[in-house]
Formats: sequence, C-alpha cells, structure tokens
Amino acid sequence: MKSTTRVVVIGGGIAGCSTLYHLTQEGWSDVVLVERDELTSGTTWHSAAQVTNFGMTQTMVGLKSHSIALYKELADDPDYPINYHHADGGIRLANTEAQMDGYRHFASMARGMGVAFEVIDAEECARRHPLISTDNLIGGLWDPLDGDIDPAQLCQALARRARKAGAEVYRHTPVTGLTQHADHSWTVHTEKGDITCEIVVNAGGYRVNEIGAMMGVHHPVASMEHQYFLTEEIPAIKAAGHRMPLIRCPISDYYCRQEKNGLLIGFYEQGCKTWGMDGIDPNFTNALCPDDLDRITDVLEGAFERMPALMEAGIHTVVNGPITYTIDGAPLVGPIPGKRNAFCIIGLRAGLGEGGGHGWLLAQQIVHGETQYDTWVIDPRRFTGHANVELTALKAIEDYQNEFRFHFPGEHRPAGRPAKTTPLTPVLAAEGAEFTVVNGWERVEFIKPDAGFHVTPSFRFDEAFDLVGAEVRNVAENVGLCEVNGFNRFEITGEDRHAFLDGIFCGNVTRRDGRVGLGYLLNRHGMLKGEATIANLPASDRGPARVWYGSAAAAEFHDMDWLRQHLDPSLDVQIRSLTNDQTILVLAGPKARAVLTAVSRGDWSKEAFPWLSVREGFVGFAPATILAVSFSGELAYEIHVPNAALHAAYLALREAGAAHGLKLFGARAVDSMRLEKGFLHWKADILTEFDPFETGLDRFVKLDKGGFIGRDALVKRQADGPRRKLVTLAVDCSHAPAPAGASLMRGAEVVGTVTSGDWGYRTGLNLAYAFVLPGLAAPGTETTIDILGDLTPAGVIAPSPYDPDFARLRA
Ligand SMILES: Cc1cc2nc3c(=O)[nH]c(=O)nc-3n(C[C@H](O)[C@H](O)[C@H](O)COP(=O)(O)OP(=O)(O)OC[C@H]3O[C@@H](n4cnc5c(N)ncnc54)[C@H](O)[C@@H]3O)c2cc1C
Repeated sequence: MKSTTRVVVIGGGIAGCSTLYHLTQEGWSDVVLVERDELTSGTTWHSAAQVTNFGMTQTMVGLKSHSIALYKELADDPDYPINYHHADGGIRLANTEAQMDGYRHFASMARGMGVAFEVIDAEECARRHPLISTDNLIGGLWDPLDGDIDPAQLCQALARRARKAGAEVYRHTPVTGLTQHADHSWTVHTEKGDITCEIVVNAGGYRVNEIGAMMGVHHPVASMEHQYFLTEEIPAIKAAGHRMPLIRCPISDYYCRQEKNGLLIGFYEQGCKTWGMDGIDPNFTNALCPDDLDRITDVLEGAFERMPALMEAGIHTVVNGPITYTIDGAPLVGPIPGKRNAFCIIGLRAGLGEGGGHGWLLAQQIVHGETQYDTWVIDPRRFTGHANVELTALKAIEDYQNEFRFHFPGEHRPAGRPAKTTPLTPVLAAEGAEFTVVNGWERVEFIKPDAGFHVTPSFRFDEAFDLVGAEVRNVAENVGLCEVNGFNRFEITGEDRHAFLDGIFCGNVTRRDGRVGLGYLLNRHGMLKGEATIANLPASDRGPARVWYGSAAAAEFHDMDWLRQHLDPSLDVQIRSLTNDQTILVLAGPKARAVLTAVSRGDWSKEAFPWLSVREGFVGFAPATILAVSFSGELAYEIHVPNAALHAAYLALREAGAAHGLKLFGARAVDSMRLEKGFLHWKADILTEFDPFETGLDRFVKLDKGGFIGRDALVKRQADGPRRKLVTLAVDCSHAPAPAGASLMRGAEVVGTVTSGDWGYRTGLNLAYAFVLPGLAAPGTETTIDILGDLTPAGVIAPSPYDPDFARLRA
C-alpha cells in the first residue's frame, strides 16, 4: 500500500469508483481508493440500478447524460463488457394537468442539454408499456434513454479502468481516522497503515457521518429503508416481444423495470422508516435490512391497479436496504464547508443513474477548482448552520413519501419548518404572511387576504397574482416594508481589508467611509463566482472601521470558504459572520424617506444621504445600520437591525408608516420588481458557466486596476468573444411566466435558456432573462420560448424597462 498519494477516496461504491476513475480521466493518476470491505458492499450491490436521464435542472440532466454515455461506452468495451440495458425507455406518469405542465417544462429544459424527452398521452403510455392501465391517467413524460445496469460490474469496470490509468484500490482497508496538518494535507489512518495525501474524498455512502466525524464535521445526510421485490415470470412481458420501459408513478408511489421476464418493483410507502440514526452496526456490510412487506401494502394496491398482471405474479425475492437522502433530495457533491482539501460525494439516492456524472463533476472540481456546469444544485455549501441530521431526517421522510412528485416553482413542503426564524416571524404570520423558505429561513412571500387563502402549486400564474400586483403598486406609489432575513453578512476588519478585497473583486472596491458599492468575484477561470455589496463603516462606538460584506442568503459557507482560502495570512484582515445576528427591514417607495425621517434623527435628505450611502443610527430606539440601496428600483433603504431589537424597529416603522400608506410586501413582489430593473439573482442569473461580459456586467469589471482572481482568464475570454449573452425579454403571453431552464427556439435549434421569469406589474410586461447566442442579443430581436409546450413569441428588449435612467431610486 502506498504511504503517500495525491487523493484518497474513501468508499468503493459507485460514488467512490466513479470519482477515482474520473480523477484519472482529468489527468491525476497518483490517486487511491480505500474500501473497508469489498467494492460495492455498501448500498451499491443491491441497487435496482435504474439509469434515467430525468432531472429538474440542466445540471442534473447534463450529469445524467454523462452517466449514460459513459455506461454505454463501458458496456460496449470488448475487453470488459458489462450488462447495461441501454435505452429501454421510461415513462413518468401523470394524472393531473399540473404534472403534465411540469413534464412539458422539463422537456423544454432538457432540450437545451441535447436530451429529447417526449410528453405523451395516456393511450401512448399504454402502447409503450403494455402492462399498464389508462385508468386515472392523463399521460406521461417519455425518456428514451432510460435503462438499467449491473451495479457490481459497473463499479468493477470503473475501478479497472482507473487502475489501468495508475490509480490503486485497497479493499478490506477500513479508514479509522483522519488527521489534517497545518499545510492542509491529510493523513488517512487505516487498519493497514497510514496514507498521507493532499486531498480526501468522503464517498462513504450510509457511513458518511462516521467519516465526517473523523474530520469533525457532520453532513446533512440521513438514510431511509427502501424496498423492492422481484416477481416470477409474467407471460405478458414475454408476449410483448420487447423489453418493458421503466415506470415512475407519482400517483401510486412506485417504480418498476423489467428483470428477466418478470418485474422489479420498488415502493415509496407513506409509513416509511429512517435507518441508522442511532449508529450503524460495524458488521453491516454486504447486508440488507429485514423484509417488511407489510409496510408497503398502501402503495402495493395502487401498483396492482395500474398493472393488473402483477396480481397474478409471485414474488421471489425481496430487497430492503438503506438509501441516503439530504434536505432537498439532491446529493452533496463538492467541497466540504469549512474544510480545506476535503470533498464529498454523498447523499446519493439515485447513485447508479447519477454516479457517473457526479464523479465526473467532482473530479473536475478537485483538479480544476470548477466544473463545466454550475453545480450549485449539488454543492454541499448550499445549506448552512441549520442543516443537521435531525432536520435532514424529517425532510428525508417527506421526500421519500413524495419521491416522484416534483416540486413546483416556489413550492416548499411543511416538514422541518420553521427551521430558521426571527423575532418577527410570528408577528408577520399574524399579519397574514405566507412564507417561502430561503436556506431554511422563513421569508415572507406575500400577505394573504385571509387565513383560508391558498395557492395551488403551478407553473402558471397563480391565485396570488393580483395580491402581489397590489403589493408592488403600493411600493411604487407609497411605501412598503419587507423583512429580508438570512441575508449573508460578514464583517471585515483590519488595515488591509480593502487591499484584500481588491484582489478578489473584478472591479473597483469603494474605500470611502460611508459609501456602498456592488462588486463581483470571479473564479480563476474568469467566470462569475459571487456577488457582494461592500459597505464601509467608519470607526464608532459599535466597532472599529470595517467593511460589511453582504451577499445572498445561501452564500454564507460558500463565500466564507472563498474569502478564507484567498486570505494571505500576512495581511491584517479579520472576517466574522454576522449572518445570524442581524436582519434587514427594507423600506421602499417614494415615501420611504418621509418614514425614515419620522423614526430616525439626522438628515436623511438626498444631499446628506444619497443613493449608495451607509450610516449607523437608530430606528426609534433600535440600533440600526442603514444603507441607501434598492433592489426594487424605487427609493429604498436597507435597515440592518440586530435581531434583539428587530421587533422594536418594526413597530417604530409601522407606526410612522401609517400616515404614509405603508404596507407589507414580500419576496414575490421583490422578484417581480428586480426583473423590471435588470437586477440579477445569484445562482439564478449569476452562474459559474458565464463570465461578467456575457452576463452584461461589463461596468463592474476593471481590467486595468491590477491583479485580481480570474483576471488573466477573463482577458483571454474577452478576446475570444462571448459564447452567450444575457438578455431581457418581453414574453407574449399572460398565463405563465417563462420558467427557469426553458429553451429558446429558432426552428428546431435551441438558441438560449431562460434563467428567470416573472410578471412586471409596473411595466405590464411578462419579463424573462435568458442567455442567448450572441447574434440574438440585440434589442428588437424576435425569438420564441418553449413555455409549457407552447412556442411563445418573445422579443429582446433593453434591460431595465422600468425607469431606465434610475431616477426613482436616486430621488
Ligand atoms: C433498494 C434500493 C434500490 C435502489 N435503486 C436505485 C436505482 O434504481 N437507481 C439508482 O440510481 N439508485 C438506486 N438506489 C440508490 C443507489 O443504490 C445508491 O445511491 C448508491 O448505491 C450509493 O452509492 P455510494 O457509493 O454513495 O454508497 P455505497 O454503495 O454505500 O458505498 C459506500 C462505500 O463506502 C465504504 N465505506 C464506508 N465507511 C468506510 C470506511 N470508514 N473506510 C473505508 N470504506 C468505507 C462502504 O463499505 C461502501 O462500500 C437504490 C438504493 C436502494 C437501497
């Protein structure tokens, strides 16, 4: 066994084998995999091993496409062929029009990744899968490339290729401890000796948190027991003369595929069980949980109704094993938050289908620091401090119970709520607030007219459309108040704070006391990594001179890791997070100044406190830090208040606002207004797949200011010219927004992808942002967007259709 290597991958299931193989593909051959038992002895060996192409985002579709192409290549390798039923096809069923809308959208989105899903009606479903009945069925989504693979052969094939490229695999080598050194390298302690390495990867499957504990972290991953059974031969399958496609059924919560001339059927029962919460028997290896068919009787009935032939088929094998879940159902693939040189590929609940792609993207991250896709949807840093195993278990149960019922836009299910609240949450609830969830925070979405008001999850404009419109109108005409909780905020102190920030922002960093600036961070490939406001606070009784660095609510771990990794220890800079200590109250509208003046002493005139100013003061008697910034496009103030004084500040603003028509508004109104202003959302429109020029952020780039991260790569990219451009579109329909991911079409060609879409109430426009081919970026260009299956006309317009001169927010 080697005593030194570059990377140690811990775990020899599909996650570890795929990572090892792809590291060699990226050019790193001095890499090893250590497995406590045999390869695949965790979950992988008994997986139903269906390989599907379906995903709810382009990143998921793309990584699954990679799996499929890779598995096909492995299956066709004459030196080591493996069993892969490639392209039997698969159907996701639907019995509501809302589900069909979702499938139409996913088909539009997947087309942008070169994947051809098809939306079919109930008769066509039954024609393609002769065993299913059309009762209570509207149709489904056809995925032509679905299939299934032999999981053990797949892992052996990946390990074999990795070994051929120089990697080593040590079986029967349990990792017993991890020690990190001052230079961030690691010693991996195993029962067979120590291995020193630069980088460790946790691919430990359901033992993820045993390995996490060895490095002092916990991962938000919990396991569920999951069961399938195999039937005896079913004559109708033999008679069909072709292999049965896969079925995913959100109506009765089961899946099935063909196995020999019978079926393999897996169930997602309501009375489901977590597994291993109190520790895992060290001898649980190559093992299963006891059969428990009683647990699945509720869903079995639905499966019988959908596939009557099942009732005649005997069961010959039952498999019940642990399967891992995360808080939002997507895995955690990428850097481990708060750690250096440590990565994970964990929480895989469809690891056979996805594992090829996840290992590919993880290897790219390890070797190049970034991947070809924006991988935020699988990034381990997308959850922050609230993400513990207890919360994860609650969300895992909920997710399991809804396995094939995709989330609609903005849909947040009830389990594990409220995870993060402020003192205002119950106050706002009493005011009628409907809440959405942002990184665990309960954030006001809109104010309901009465307690019985309910929005039906949909891809179309919903029942809250007019309510949101009224909130926007009041902001535009009078003044609105909105709580923005969870906003990420770091306090950066020390003499060298500006020099440090200068090296990581691609534009000028404002240094003047009392001034606020917006800036962008690039990765070393010149692509957009982050967005942050910088507010310069002079020394006061609240602290020394300091910068407040503000960014998106979910960015805390992501941004903190990035800043800390790039902090030269010789600089006098200290960073601490205030994210959980302070909350923002946004006061927006033409009468915002009058309200602020009524509650806070001092001169808040345009001259004394213009746009992009910051000042410490009081709101009533609540200490506050006030920024003159606006995301709505109206005159607005961000009032940052310590949570202990938040209620007091709120009461003061409500009282003073009464005379000016102050009303509450929520996140839906904010999102609509920011689209009318051309303002972007991190990880919706600001993605690592594009550089700042492609994203229309040219004015925030100063190539001549000196060195900054990503500069050289950006200069080269600029010389090469853009591959896409972000544009604003006016969409010619009034029944649905253009959903993120929807494809822009010119004939059969995909020419762009929507990133955000919503109604603009002040402009009366259905607005969308999209990355399009550069030749289609000029205002006046006509195009079409596939919105829920309809090719909908859309025209490129100039950004910021509302108040393009920015006069209102400077008023
Ligand atoms: C019943 C069932 C059906 C499923 N069906 C499908 C399906 O149809 N399609 C699909 O895509 N997915 C399916 N899955 C999910 C899929 O099987 C898993 O997502 C996948 O196998 C997880 O792989 P992994 O590599 O993450 O974990 P594992 O396979 O559990 O591998 C982790 C490895 O880490 C090793 N390890 C742990 N601790 C240590 C240590 N300290 N030192 C060294 N090694 C260690 C373990 O021994 C193990 O081999 C199914 C799961 C179940 C339970």
